[in-house]
Amino acid sequence: MPKYIKDALSFNKQKLCSVCNNYRHGLSAYCHKHNQRAITFGHPLGYGLRKKDYEGEVKLIAKLFELNPNHVGLREGILFFDNWRGPCPDRLFFLRSNGVTPEQLLIEVSAVWLFGSSEPNHRIKSDRHLICLLGQRVLNYKRRCNPPKITVESAYRHTGYYIYNNIGILLINIAKSIIKNQEEKYRIKVKLAEPFIIK
Ligand SMILES: [Zn+2]
Repeated sequence: MPKYIKDALSFNKQKLCSVCNNYRHGLSAYCHKHNQRAITFGHPLGYGLRKKDYEGEVKLIAKLFELNPNHVGLREGILFFDNWRGPCPDRLFFLRSNGVTPEQLLIEVSAVWLFGSSEPNHRIKSDRHLICLLGQRVLNYKRRCNPPKITVESAYRHTGYYIYNNIGILLINIAKSIIKNQEEKYRIKVKLAEPFIIK
């Protein structure tokens, strides 16, 4: 290893992680744990989602799909998963062989995106974290069925970016439409609950 890299490493390792009080890992700005999270989930404080976190969103998206069977964007989105050319092809092949349809995968990522776009409690740390979650939820769609192992640390991130770069416009469109509809319903409720003058 060249001396200047050795020096940079030993210099960096004396500094503290930007998030916690542990020492930094390698040339990273974070300790080992937070560096791993940044690689896997796109943010040092990132983490994965569970299916039940966004089950309400899945129902809303499934309904939207039902009402718009001929929407050209949804059809393109389904084709995208049907002709997957992205990372972890063996995982996607496994899912398809186990009966998961392209439509189910599109509903899943749309629901994750809606969850990340509408939840007010800051559970999603950044856009990058949300993009990694797209990958995490697709690759783990049937995790309990012993899918082929993921060996690349950045698999969620690469898969998430592949999805976002190809059908991100569709995901944004779906989330915006649902949020707009919910806001409209809320405005009507507020009008219905407007107090009366009674003397
Ligand atoms: Zn740390």
